[in-house]
Amino acid sequence: MSHHWGYDRDNGPEHWHKDFPIAQGERQSPIDIDTKAAVHDPELKPLNVNYEQALSRRILNNGHSFNVEFDDSQDKAVLKGGPLADTYRLIQFHFHWGSSDDQGSEHTVDKKKYAAELHLVHWNTKYGDFGKAVQQPDGLAVLGIFLMVGNAKPGLQKVIDVLDTIKTKGKSADFAGFDPRGLLPESLDYWTYLGSLTTPPLLECVTWIVLKEPISLSNEQMLKFRSLNFSSPDEPEKLMVDNWRPAQPLKNRKIRASFK
Ligand SMILES: [Zn+2]
Repeated sequence: MSHHWGYDRDNGPEHWHKDFPIAQGERQSPIDIDTKAAVHDPELKPLNVNYEQALSRRILNNGHSFNVEFDDSQDKAVLKGGPLADTYRLIQFHFHWGSSDDQGSEHTVDKKKYAAELHLVHWNTKYGDFGKAVQQPDGLAVLGIFLMVGNAKPGLQKVIDVLDTIKTKGKSADFAGFDPRGLLPESLDYWTYLGSLTTPPLLECVTWIVLKEPISLSNEQMLKFRSLNFSSPDEPEKLMVDNWRPAQPLKNRKIRASFK
């Protein structure tokens, strides 16, 4: 029986390095974004988020978060430009969140934690599939968006309304017709750096693009996230909260900003 990673004291982020030694590698994520140390790079292009033809398929509680999955068999929803030299296809998005509003994001900004963080995961089409891409240093591009509790985000409500049907680990539901453009803030100003997956296997394959402008969601929307379960239907209920990895050492990396 293999060891299962998670977020509790016994098998949480402080223990992951035992099974995944890259946890202590040179380009791990998330990080704290020190806004004073980030350098504006005028060479950075505007981000090109092409989600018009996005085709969502399914939503799945995987026991760590829930993934909204997309059809990535063609160039439908793609991310280009910004720091990226290639075309990256959207495969899924998911969130990380806290047990209270003062924590939950993975990246922090001048040590500030947001209530949640959205990750839109894309893979570099030159590698043919997601599994090949995660083995490459430029294999993935993840667009990170902070969430704060305030006004409701109408574009998120279809996700919120389906969560009751995927409460426990392993449950999934059809989820066609979701438009991920409803999750974006107004501004696409961003910070970018080279990092990793923030969950095991923690592979160092990600170009991170973290938006400066947070989106807000309502307290009611936030509470629905916190009503999900890490646990399976046959286990004692464990609420899915605090599914975030804390900031990792920056080491020999620079954070670039697309804005002054
Ligand atoms: Zn994530």
